[in-house]
Amino acid sequence: MQPALIVHGGAWDIPDEAVDACKSGCHRALAAGWSILSQGGSALDAIEAAIMVLEDDPVFDAGYGSHLNLDGRVECDAIVMNGWTLRAGAAATLQRVRNPVRLARKILESCPHMMLVAEGAESFAKGQGIKLCRPEELVSEAEHEAWMKCKGNKHAAEHHRGHEQGTVGAVAIDAAGHLFAATSTGGTCCKLPGRVGDSPLIGCGCYADSEAGGASCTGYGEAIMKVVLAKTAVDFLRRPAICVADSGDACDLSTADLAARDAVHLLAKRTHGTGGLILLDRYGNPGFAFNTPRMAYGYVAPDRAFLTSV
Ligand code: ASP
Repeated sequence: MQPALIVHGGAWDIPDEAVDACKSGCHRALAAGWSILSQGGSALDAIEAAIMVLEDDPVFDAGYGSHLNLDGRVECDAIVMNGWTLRAGAAATLQRVRNPVRLARKILESCPHMMLVAEGAESFAKGQGIKLCRPEELVSEAEHEAWMKCKGNKHAAEHHRGHEQGTVGAVAIDAAGHLFAATSTGGTCCKLPGRVGDSPLIGCGCYADSEAGGASCTGYGEAIMKVVLAKTAVDFLRRPAICVADSGDACDLSTADLAARDAVHLLAKRTHGTGGLILLDRYGNPGFAFNTPRMAYGYVAPDRAFLTSV
């Protein structure tokens, strides 16, 4: 099977100044994941490598440079899901793990449970050989400045370099046909300590089923959870491919784009929420949709070119 890879770097109103950095982050994430997939490596290794690039890049809201909570601390959430076994590994409210996706993978592979939070998750990480960092090491200067402004005035998107979101995600299929999806986030800025959004929740921020496809979401978590957005999008991939445009005419969207579009429509219709998602169908066809002004994403085209956009 021809491998496939799609990544995202979050939805929302990404300002013009951040567009190039978001595109280049997505490009580097594709390069990291594709160097593994193109040499016959596993989809799990590929999504981990892709997400780690995005977590390490402070332009995205995941790992280093995540938004701060009301107490001025980073609290990260992440999930990795295996489309063959339907098993997930997820972790939430992490304060001392530099690459939350690494811990999510360890939970997927080596933990009897599917989700761990807070100190319990961090002590499992340590036991698995993941070095813990100091909480301050995850705080970027830009986010600290933004947080100070929010504290002194009122929480506002403009304080956060004009954009609030920047969750990251990836979906990959390898040459052996194995499908994995992952999502990693610092959550929403100025969130209450202990708040967990959609991102690490199976079916909400991420879902993978080899019989249909895999998806990773971004956007307003409290709305995404209501419609179990990632599972909804993957379930839409099971429908026969009949595309009807908003006008009622036939259109030429792929099944993957159609599933993504309809899932985001449902999010808007039932919750008035905003967000976006990326997905791969089980054949590796990419799809994406968002109802925010922008979303950063990238995928490997059939001719193996990296396409990125914001
Ligand atoms: N969905 C994430 C959350 O609510 C935020 C985001 O995607 O930007 O935690």
